[in-house]
Amino acid sequence: MLSYGRQTVDEDDIRAVVSALRSDKLTQGRRVRLFEELICEYTGARYCVVCSSGTSALYLAYRASGLKEGHSIVTTPVTFLSTVTSAIHLGGVPAFCDIDPVTYNLNPALLEDTIKKCNRPHAIVPVHFGGLPCEMERIREVADRNRLFVIEDGCHALGSRWKDGTGRWHRVGDCAFSDMTVFSFHPVKTITTCEGGAITTNDKTLYTRLLHLREHGITRHEKSFIGMSDGPWYYELVEPSFNFRISDVHCALGISQLKKIERFIDRRQKIADLYRTLLSGHHFIKTPCERNDVVNAYHLYPLRIGFEQIGVSKKLWFKEMEARGIKLQVHYIPIHLQPYIQWRYGFRRGEFPESERFYREEVSLPIYPLLTDDEVKKVAEEIVTTLTTQMAV
Ligand SMILES: *Cc1c(COP(=O)(O)O)cnc(C)c1O
Repeated sequence: MLSYGRQTVDEDDIRAVVSALRSDKLTQGRRVRLFEELICEYTGARYCVVCSSGTSALYLAYRASGLKEGHSIVTTPVTFLSTVTSAIHLGGVPAFCDIDPVTYNLNPALLEDTIKKCNRPHAIVPVHFGGLPCEMERIREVADRNRLFVIEDGCHALGSRWKDGTGRWHRVGDCAFSDMTVFSFHPVKTITTCEGGAITTNDKTLYTRLLHLREHGITRHEKSFIGMSDGPWYYELVEPSFNFRISDVHCALGISQLKKIERFIDRRQKIADLYRTLLSGHHFIKTPCERNDVVNAYHLYPLRIGFEQIGVSKKLWFKEMEARGIKLQVHYIPIHLQPYIQWRYGFRRGEFPESERFYREEVSLPIYPLLTDDEVKKVAEEIVTTLTTQMAV
């Protein structure tokens, strides 16, 4: 059965993990720090804090930014739940900005209006959907006018690049137009640590807060002590937090994976090219947008199908594809339509029409480095066959 995403783990990854298991420190050793340094080098950010998951990275970023009870975060409905739930844990309130119908990212033209309507706005949280970078310069401008944080949810976009108005290239995570960027190392993402996440930033104050928040809210740095140090064993509680650490065994895998990231992305792009060639030319199919000022790391391949237009039930078609050995996915159920979110924050169906239309049309096709050209061809063929002959009424 083909699925939309999966990890690539080679023998050298396994050797790296085994070697970490044989070393003195299974956690809080040198591999954690080394992984952070390599992520800084790769993204171009000054500081990096790795942690237990993308979700805990989001929580840490929100908390370090000072998000408090009643503050709003502005993001799109088309993202994974934890972009929003990580803020809810801190008393944050979700506010949504509809997506751009071409990029599927937060529509910057609607941002100012969304901010005006929400209570005590605190941060804008752009999600680089599928790996396509958001319009960061415009988002930063709006954030500055309204004195808001910008926290990028880069969970899809490690390795994606884009060109700014002056012609300079940026890698997602360099935080040139944001305060922090969050990544996930779940097995379906660009690289994996099994479970894991990271926050990058160029701000030293945020960095030191992230460090103690990752570790129970404890500091071991003498300069930040309020009391007197009793000796080398002394540490101090700054504010109660949780244990969000990641182990050296996980980081050993991350270090090994990061070495191969360009190869992974290259293969994902080749698959995307092949899908485009095989699937474009059908009036009821829309392949994702390509831009020449962007290099997309293609975490997802979001295909839009005009199910209503051709009279096919998405539900039945989805099951039919599964019967043919292809397990698709849908990214995402718009968050404002989740019963809990609707009920608690009072959102209505129809409030974010582009996100809802996208949800009706989107399916994520299999895309990961180990997927072969033949498998890509099979997926494309089955899509076209089922939609043109079997299902249409
Ligand atoms: C994967 C993902 C997360 C959460 O990451 P985990 O490591 O699974 O906790 C958050 N936001 C987006 C957009 C994601 O894709």
